[in-house]
Amino acid sequence: MMIHVLYWGLQQPLWVGDTALTPDETQSPPHHQSTSGLCTARPFPGAGRCASPLMIIDSHTHIFPEGWAARRTALAAREPLFAEMYSDPRARMATAADLLRSMDAHGIDQAVICGFGWDDPALCRAHNDALLEAAAAAGDRLLPFITLSLRDLAAAAREAERCRALGATGIGELRPEWQGLDLATEGDAAVLAALAGDAPLLIHATEAAGHRYPGKQGQRIDALYRFIERRPEVRVIAAHLGGGLPLYAHMPEVREVLSGMYVDTAAWPLLYRPAIFRAVADLIGAQRILFATDFPLRSQGRELSLLQQTPLTASEQRLVLGGNASRLFGLAQAG
Ligand SMILES: [Zn+2]
Repeated sequence: MMIHVLYWGLQQPLWVGDTALTPDETQSPPHHQSTSGLCTARPFPGAGRCASPLMIIDSHTHIFPEGWAARRTALAAREPLFAEMYSDPRARMATAADLLRSMDAHGIDQAVICGFGWDDPALCRAHNDALLEAAAAAGDRLLPFITLSLRDLAAAAREAERCRALGATGIGELRPEWQGLDLATEGDAAVLAALAGDAPLLIHATEAAGHRYPGKQGQRIDALYRFIERRPEVRVIAAHLGGGLPLYAHMPEVREVLSGMYVDTAAWPLLYRPAIFRAVADLIGAQRILFATDFPLRSQGRELSLLQQTPLTASEQRLVLGGNASRLFGLAQAG
């Protein structure tokens, strides 16, 4: 809990007590006790019979190469955003091994692995190499999203091409505004669209209101909206329930513009009450919501459990937990 308080600047969660949100990486998957009708691809004692096994995919995690946590101070001296988010040694920097252990403990089949939005293209390249190697070593369990420095666009284009050839699944989590692009302009929108190509593009989305936390800034949702409006062909995943952008879909023209956008659920309990899921599903569709944790910021087990406390139906939860990600990432469906 302390890490979360430091990272997000919250004294306590918004809607449940501290006890309910204490991370517990050893907790069993919630499906053991579930009465929601969910079941996973793996048999759990007491889970009952699954007519249609469910793949669980965490669409937003962060890992660092082995040994980089020990370089935290030196990296923070070079990179301002990294300093804001990770200079405190209690802000966890997980490795691929840490993530795979957590996935095994909580019955998560696959996970998108993101790095960090470094300014230095050399750090991006080194981090991407580690992500791609981790994914290759883990079979199909880890889906690498590469990071790009947007301070050097020529280098970013070369790096995107290099990693695409090496099998990257997507790009992100990027913070285009923090990284120097103004997505409200046609020129910068075209630059980002060209970098993304047909790859899924995960963008951090900043709530326009609400409390401050380290790492909140990164992409204003008004500029993100203009980008999506101009470039509907880009497969955008707006992190953290899109920074609240889906709620503007009460406006018919916004609903139309956002009809192709995905949002992920990363760290939602630190931002919203569970009722937001009903609103987002009704406004942009449950088929546009991807289960995500922001691991290691959040416990995967806890996030699985909390998702079942949202007002999504069992069939909507199945889409959110894996069906949508399978479709978006072109993965084989279980069952
Ligand atoms: Zn983010």
